[in-house]
Amino acid sequence: PAESIRTPIRQLDEAAINRIAAGEVVERPASAVKELVENALDAGATRIEVAVADGGKTLIRVTDDGHGIPADELPLALSRHATSKIDGTDLLNIHSFGFRGEALPSLGAVGRLTITSRSGNEAATIAVSGSRIDPVKPAALNRGTVVELRDIFFATPARLKFMRSDRAESQAVGDVIKRLAMAEPYVGFTLRDVSGGGEGRVTFRADPETGDLFDALHGRLGRILGAEFAENALRIGADRNGLSLSGYAALPTYSRGSSVAQYLFVNGRPVRDKMLLGALRAAYSDYLSRDRHPAAVLFIECDPHLVDVNVHPAKSEVRFREPGIARGLIVSGLRHALAEAGHRASTTVAG
Ligand code: ADP
Ligand code: MG
Repeated sequence: PAESIRTPIRQLDEAAINRIAAGEVVERPASAVKELVENALDAGATRIEVAVADGGKTLIRVTDDGHGIPADELPLALSRHATSKIDGTDLLNIHSFGFRGEALPSLGAVGRLTITSRSGNEAATIAVSGSRIDPVKPAALNRGTVVELRDIFFATPARLKFMRSDRAESQAVGDVIKRLAMAEPYVGFTLRDVSGGGEGRVTFRADPETGDLFDALHGRLGRILGAEFAENALRIGADRNGLSLSGYAALPTYSRGSSVAQYLFVNGRPVRDKMLLGALRAAYSDYLSRDRHPAAVLFIECDPHLVDVNVHPAKSEVRFREPGIARGLIVSGLRHALAEAGHRASTTVAG
């Protein structure tokens, strides 16, 4: 078109780049909570406390007892593509939630971010607001890290407009915590609503690491999904070609009218993967009509080289090197458990 006037090619400045990246990483308060809690888990935390006000719109604070960040590395934590989790030589060898080094700079670009952390005997704090970084200052903190994000999206008004009600955003935050808590029964989680008048508090107490992981998981799932799920849940365990499947899947009689109770994790990472969800459905095909949906919490573990988690910035998608094996493992592992349960039920009735 004639009115298209060319302007010269320019390099965007760091602040603009961060705001653009933030669009992919932080969609809403719940995505900020996800990034911060994943950072706490990556830091080896055993207790994580999340406080939010107004659905996370005005305040998100994540406190952990992990290994912390040394004072001299705090500015790096806020700079793009800076991470302690990979060295860049092997992008398939990922054992942590994070690795892109994008979350903190993105959060600092869209809100007012303060990180206070203790490493060794030293504690320090750094603040950034709309990408303006203040110098590191000494601070007082007993252990771990406190990350506080105030006024998310104040620097990106367009995003601010897309936020839903406090209630809806709160609910999304709660869902993120539940999902991450399912995979970490040895970590204690607390979610508090600190809004004026808001009084909600949810706690998932940590199981002692000395106990059986399946028992710990069963207890945690009972807290999160309800006692009825726990009572109807079959223990799942299967291996195939270097992939292992574990978790709990509910009896067909405990099916749901939607897929709300389907939780899948690959190497501890919550995923929503069409192929895996399809496998779950296929496993129950003999038992459920099309309008009923199985309830299950399943963990696939494998060598990180067999799965690419580097597909999407929010990292909820994964790509298996051999998808057929993952699918087959879910279908056969679940069918086996369902058939056994059916057999037990029929012999009980007969006997
Ligand atoms: P990534 O998690 O992809 O490395 P982030 O921007 O989320 O990128 O964090 C940058 C770095 O800051 C991390 O690699 C880690 O070294 C450090 N960090 C962030 N949060 C914490 C925390 N809660 N405890 C300890 N270190 C942290
Ligand atoms: Mg991170």
